[in-house]
Amino acid sequence: MVHFVGAGPGAEDLITIRGMKLLEEADVIIYAGSLVNKALLKYAKEDCEIHDSSKLDLNEVLEIMKRAHREMRDVVRLHTGDPSIYGAIREQMDLLNRENIPFDLTPGVSSFCAAAAVLQMEYTLPGISQSVIITRMEGRTPVPEKESVEALSSHGSTMVFFLSAGDTKALAERLKKAGVRKNMPCAVVYKASWDDEEKYICTLDTLAETTLEHGIKSQALIIVGEAVSQSGYELSKLYSPDFSTGFRKGKNT
Ligand code: SAH
Repeated sequence: MVHFVGAGPGAEDLITIRGMKLLEEADVIIYAGSLVNKALLKYAKEDCEIHDSSKLDLNEVLEIMKRAHREMRDVVRLHTGDPSIYGAIREQMDLLNRENIPFDLTPGVSSFCAAAAVLQMEYTLPGISQSVIITRMEGRTPVPEKESVEALSSHGSTMVFFLSAGDTKALAERLKKAGVRKNMPCAVVYKASWDDEEKYICTLDTLAETTLEHGIKSQALIIVGEAVSQSGYELSKLYSPDFSTGFRKGKNT
């Protein structure tokens, strides 16, 4: 059995209890060494076989999984954050299906949630934005035209850019050209929840110099939108004294 497990954003206590238990029971662990905190490997059994997938290609990962399956040993495939976001798990699951190797998935805390916690921020503020767009700029992986930075920015939603810290100059230029105002609040969160995490609030105009000044090129999220300022919002209906819900009767209703 192969267990895909979300490692969480970095801090070793931000893995789920289920994920931790699977690590404790695993015979083989294949972890994404580029972003998963190695401290999580302390949960592994003493005789656990451990591989860093940043040094392996897809076929090599599959071979390890196939061998473990033949030997009736359990594998944990540990992915950073939540595996469903830029986790490259579909291709692994398809190969496992082809080999008739059973697998399951355990979610993790995505880095975009950890970044909001670091910033003490709510992405969805009434009256400001009720949607979060999780996206990226194209790199070696292309982004469909209809999901371009320009197209998505037209919604005015809170935008969270993964895998894009390497070229914040291009990101800011493109957003500005698409009509986003140059003093739109932005945030940069580097290594959210790690000991050496960093966070910066800036504007679209100062985004590129902010990442340059702090030498941030990867392992960071760029958040763009009015919600970053965390002001000017309307109070929620859910907790309004005047508003009844299925669980609570409002004072003046
Ligand atoms: N599945 C992961 C994302 C993997 S893609 C998740 O759910 O978070 C890798 C990108 O995620 C990085 O380039 C960076 O943009 C972002 N990332 C991952 N961990 C991060 C962290 N702790 N802090 C900030 N950004 C992070």
